[in-house]
Amino acid sequence: MYNRRILRPAFAICVLVSQWSCTYVSNGEKASTESSSLEEEDVPKESKSINVILMIGDGMGLTQITAGWIAKRDALNLERCPVIGLSKTNSSSNLITDSAAGATAFSTGKKTYNGAIGVNPDTVAQPTILEIAEKNGIATGLVATSSITHATPASFIAHQPSRLLDEAIAADFLKTDIDVFIGGGKKFFELRTDHANLLTQLKEKGYAIANGVEEIGLVKTGKLAGFIADEQPLRFSEGRGAILTTASLKALELLDQNDKGFFLMIEGSQIDWGGHANDSQYIIDEMIDFDNAVGQVLDFAAKDGNTLVIITADHETGGYGINAADDDGTIVGGFTTDYHTATMVPVFAYGPGAEAFAGMYHNTEIFHKMLAAFSIRLPVNSAPKQVEIQ
Ligand SMILES: [Zn+2]
Repeated sequence: MYNRRILRPAFAICVLVSQWSCTYVSNGEKASTESSSLEEEDVPKESKSINVILMIGDGMGLTQITAGWIAKRDALNLERCPVIGLSKTNSSSNLITDSAAGATAFSTGKKTYNGAIGVNPDTVAQPTILEIAEKNGIATGLVATSSITHATPASFIAHQPSRLLDEAIAADFLKTDIDVFIGGGKKFFELRTDHANLLTQLKEKGYAIANGVEEIGLVKTGKLAGFIADEQPLRFSEGRGAILTTASLKALELLDQNDKGFFLMIEGSQIDWGGHANDSQYIIDEMIDFDNAVGQVLDFAAKDGNTLVIITADHETGGYGINAADDDGTIVGGFTTDYHTATMVPVFAYGPGAEAFAGMYHNTEIFHKMLAAFSIRLPVNSAPKQVEIQ
């Protein structure tokens, strides 16, 4: 159905040399192949310290959003976004993507095979937007309601051939200077088959290690590794509480201390799990929790004035449909599958540069649009490529 080979030539030069051999250049730094005067002309002054927040509702298709709106019986915070687009979610190997390939498309601008974490179809590491941001002095953060080593957050910071390699993914965190990460998965840092204690290593690198919401709340500056579960955090309905919102606000507080702006990825991980479980109420609880975090993030962006917020999904899960709803907001849902579907997913955008997210495009474009918001340039040989159904 898909031809992997069509991806290879486009990125071969970039990939074969090394991860950082392709020069990523932000405003004010010289590209080796272009004059600095051209860069200065191209880059608007106000973009110098822009913040970009990418919020991913895993498995959040239009029906999941609709269900959240019906059940809430009020407007969603998502509705505050003035710009909406549609993202085509196929991976390089499948019409129906998984979260690893979906997030790697956002993080690297490249379609890859299902299960791939920050690598291309040939399993070669690709620089992620988080790493590129870091190289440009931009602060970085990841927040999730899954293990922080789970496919979506992992794809922004790790390079592994399989999403199943949680311990290797955790070790990749040490290879970066990420400023803040909050999620589950503590055991992959601490109780490892190689007996390494990555928490000790994180401390040596200057991270505050915080366990649970209270300890996370005490960290007021510096680098933070925050853990909310040994493995996967609870469902919202099981008492997880408003951790997603609290963690997102803590990440914003810490990252906003950087003068050169920040990149933050926030994932509502379990909307997807509700879809896999074919459980409308699970979807709704997680959807509304995610939307509450969206509201707080949009409040931050509105106050800041220099923050671009993008809210989207990696794919839809469940082939979810709404067949009826009671007056009290109870939904009678139907499902076509307990896996993901190929349907396009919406992209919401708010803030400076939001208009670039209108239209219909491949998920890989979100990477390029975010880089453009940061005024970071890709080398010519890494221009975005379309991957169409063969
Ligand atoms: Zn899934």
